[in-house]
Amino acid sequence: MSDETKNKNMSEIFGCNVFSDSVMRERLPKDIYRSVRRTKKLGCPLDPAIANVVANAMKDWAVEKGATHYTHWFQPMTGVTAEKHDAFLNPAERGSILLEFSGKELVKGEPDASSFPSGGLRSTFEARGYTAWDPTSSAFIKDGSLYIPTAFCSYTGEILDKKTPLLRSMDVLSQQALRILRLFGNTTATRVTTTVGPEQEYFLIDKKYFDMREDLVITGRTLFGAKPPKGQELEDHYYGNIKQRVSDYMKELDEELWKLGIYAKTKHNEVAPSQHELAPVFTDSNIAADHNQLTMEIMKKVAIKHGLYCLLHEKPFAGVNGSGKHTNWSMSSNDGQNLLDPGDCPQDNLQFLTFLCAIVKGVHEYAPLLRLSAASAGNDHRLGANEAPPAIVSVFIGSELEAVIEALENGTKYSSGDNKTFEIGVDVLPDFPKDTTDRNRTSPFAFTGNKFEFRMLGSADSISCTNTIINTIVAEELCQIADELEGSENFVGDLKRLLAKIIREHKAIIYNGNGYSDEWLEEAVNVRHLPNLVSTPDALPEYITPESVRLFEKFHVYTEAELRARTEVLLENYSKVLNIEALTMIDMVRKKILPAVLSYTKTVCDTGASKSALGIDPVVEKELASKLSALSEGIYRETAVLEEKVIAAQDKAAGLEMSRYYRDVVFAQMQTLRAIVDETETSVSEDFWPLPSYTTLLFSV
Ligand code: ADP
Ligand code: MG
Repeated sequence: MSDETKNKNMSEIFGCNVFSDSVMRERLPKDIYRSVRRTKKLGCPLDPAIANVVANAMKDWAVEKGATHYTHWFQPMTGVTAEKHDAFLNPAERGSILLEFSGKELVKGEPDASSFPSGGLRSTFEARGYTAWDPTSSAFIKDGSLYIPTAFCSYTGEILDKKTPLLRSMDVLSQQALRILRLFGNTTATRVTTTVGPEQEYFLIDKKYFDMREDLVITGRTLFGAKPPKGQELEDHYYGNIKQRVSDYMKELDEELWKLGIYAKTKHNEVAPSQHELAPVFTDSNIAADHNQLTMEIMKKVAIKHGLYCLLHEKPFAGVNGSGKHTNWSMSSNDGQNLLDPGDCPQDNLQFLTFLCAIVKGVHEYAPLLRLSAASAGNDHRLGANEAPPAIVSVFIGSELEAVIEALENGTKYSSGDNKTFEIGVDVLPDFPKDTTDRNRTSPFAFTGNKFEFRMLGSADSISCTNTIINTIVAEELCQIADELEGSENFVGDLKRLLAKIIREHKAIIYNGNGYSDEWLEEAVNVRHLPNLVSTPDALPEYITPESVRLFEKFHVYTEAELRARTEVLLENYSKVLNIEALTMIDMVRKKILPAVLSYTKTVCDTGASKSALGIDPVVEKELASKLSALSEGIYRETAVLEEKVIAAQDKAAGLEMSRYYRDVVFAQMQTLRAIVDETETSVSEDFWPLPSYTTLLFSV
């Protein structure tokens, strides 16, 4: 295929299953198209009369493309997406049918969604929540259905999903950022949009081996598994060349994502064997969140077609790196500026420094919220485990930028590496080359040239919560700065004084060194007094502190009741995950592992007995059989202890107490049991061991 045809195919494929802006323009009367555009841009509701026309056009388009159903697609608090499909079917006369889809059906849906977690916001007898069309995210076709992105809330108005708060936080940030732009004399921008590019890590393993492991099938991670002789020590996988089977998978994945209008752009091998990454081009936060959910789903689907299984768990394998999701975040105004670009005139430089200082202050004041946005049972295996940033939040800005803000703090001139000096707000600051800011991979929140990269999130997480929190925190800080400076008679002077104060009070959150080191842990906790919320049960209560409630209520992002509900849902989820993992371990030991060890022991004993009958001393058999007996006994006993502890968990109060019990007691016992099973694995013949080994799982694709 020539490059030209390939390119043509690519642009033909891209977005072909999306009811995009251009499809809309083509298919809708001009005035209707314009109203929808307005709705998209300003977030105002759509006139019902117009909704009918739009729905009909959507249906015709979808049916032409072979769709038979439509579904409201939403993101409940479980963190995955939900859908219920209805056919475009209405019975007509004489047994015929009409294909119909009304504006009402487009705009509002009523899934019987009583089984989604609501954290007590909704009792089952009044269970009906409803879904409301989100016109800012385009409808699309997948698997024969027209998907309509929606928000999900209860009839009493509480939000029950992850999308609504994200949309609210984007609006709030826009309002506050515009106030700052106005202070700098900008009269053209009317909207500031937050943008996100989430880099997604994943593992690909052979489906046939996946199917042989109950732990992977049920929990998404291996609960047992001795270390392979070769792991990631040689560092030969990172950016290594991509094997044919994986490359075929990636090619089809890209194409499927492009069809849905997802800007899949970069793909490469990651650090661990069998680990890979996909990064899209950034887009508006809410679209990026929808797209990331779709990306995860399509990754799994396409893998099955290739006889592979895509693991999105944060820590599928002990001893090799787990998977994260770097969330690149920035803000851009609709007059074309990236607000985190340092700019190339003194005024732009100062505006950039204002946004930068707001972020630094926000991260310092609300570090626990950022930490909790990445809290989950799966991600607890990563944070602070020398492969992901520690559980301590800090900000990396690079040494050049640090020198700039130091000069700002002290009211001195900034001198660059080549000994030129610059007065901030008067001179044009030099470019900060990207590579001076991008080399530190150990910081949880790193400035990378024209955006921040939040690196704590786990691979399976929705990006919505993190982004809702970042947007709201930054909005609060921008609001404070605007409150202080609106009406100032000496703007630049007052601004510089305010920024100097912010830097003085909040620079403790800035750290440019190695975030994985023990010295940092020591310094962060003991000298800088930064919070170190090690596990999920430590982090989640931070959602409902008075400061957090005040912040989210001030901007109408969450009410206190909604925050409490979310905390409850997340704590319960944590306990449930550990409960399922513990039960899976018990099941695997009793039905597979122990019987296998016993059979193998019998073979060893039989061989020994045969040798004895011939008068040969069975030295090896005796020793091995005693070792295996001792190990089996250990496995048997530790499993019984684990079972007792899981049973005892039922008596704990739901919520925090139970989650702490699972962490301190159940999880600790799971580790004990795992250690002895893994030791046993290394002494049992491969012909008997009932589970594919780490080597098989990690190196067979
Ligand atoms: P890396 O060195 O981490 O691979 P890249 O520059 O390739 O960095 O970007 C990584 C991700 O950051 C991509 O998804 C990219 O689209 C995203 N990104 C770039 N600019 C922005 C921005 N202004 N806002 C949000 N995300 C961005
Ligand atoms: Mg990156």
